[in-house]
Amino acid sequence: MAGRFWRFYERANDVVRTFTGPADLGAGHPEGPDVRSAEAACPLCGFPMSAHTIERNDDSRTSTRLHCPAKAA
Ligand SMILES: [Zn+2]
Repeated sequence: MAGRFWRFYERANDVVRTFTGPADLGAGHPEGPDVRSAEAACPLCGFPMSAHTIERNDDSRTSTRLHCPAKAA
């Protein structure tokens, strides 16, 4: 049953792709590497991000926590 549906789905996609073409990937312009500075200012305290402690848990239910140096001091 799943195989028959998949064949129908592929045939329908083949028909659709004749007038839509393949999926458009990318940003639509030449892209370079995403260079970000670790010295960017924190939006909360203004200290460099490299001075912060990021607390990540293996537990997927606990959110990641950012510790600002200004609050710790
Ligand atoms: Zn901060």
